[in-house]
Amino acid sequence: MNILGQQKSSFIDYPNKISTVYFTGGCNFKCPYCHNKDLVNSIGTKFSEDEIFSFLLKRKKFIDAVCISGGEPTLQKDLYKFISKLKSEGFFVKLDTNGYSPDILESLIKDEMLDYIAMDIKGPLYAYEKIAGVKIDVNLIKKSIDIIKGSNIDYEFRTTICRELITIKDIVDIANMLKGSKSYFLQNFRDGDTVLYGKNCLTPYDKEELEELEAILKDYFELFRIK
Ligand code: SF4
Repeated sequence: MNILGQQKSSFIDYPNKISTVYFTGGCNFKCPYCHNKDLVNSIGTKFSEDEIFSFLLKRKKFIDAVCISGGEPTLQKDLYKFISKLKSEGFFVKLDTNGYSPDILESLIKDEMLDYIAMDIKGPLYAYEKIAGVKIDVNLIKKSIDIIKGSNIDYEFRTTICRELITIKDIVDIANMLKGSKSYFLQNFRDGDTVLYGKNCLTPYDKEELEELEAILKDYFELFRIK
């Protein structure tokens, strides 16, 4: 595993659980708003598995779950082995993914390796390439959505929104595509030095606009939230 970052304790990454978060290096997308520029470019100091498990086992009493984020974790060749080791130690496991590896997701779900999945939905399928910044086969995205919705594990879909890349109509179109899903979250863009596209290039939506959206979309899902 190419793990380049660790957040020792998080109270927000795994719903209702205390988790440790690991960040894998490398991504097959290049979303301009990405907040993890270095991770996407695989820059960072690698954590060894020995280091990771010695940390986790020492703090097992205080940590319920491990979140695997990125970058894009499904690009890691030994992801399955890493997760099965976490499961055998009794941790809940959450996977953050861009959904571009449906077969990997399917096998992890089938073998009960995951307890929670958070999948990024970059946009409506017709706008995916513009937002993901690379050529995309949207059938893979659709397949992942169907696999996750058809599973019995907890999940959320989530979309980062900024004015330059995603319109209000796009957001409503995504909501229509995902209608009936358990959880859907919108994350308003936050600028910063680590943004892939560079600072001061992209802008978030106003609070009032998001409140209007919330009023329209909240009944589409069991849980809808704007973060
Ligand atoms: S935001 Fe996009 S580029 Fe960044 S890690 Fe996620 S999928 Fe990759």
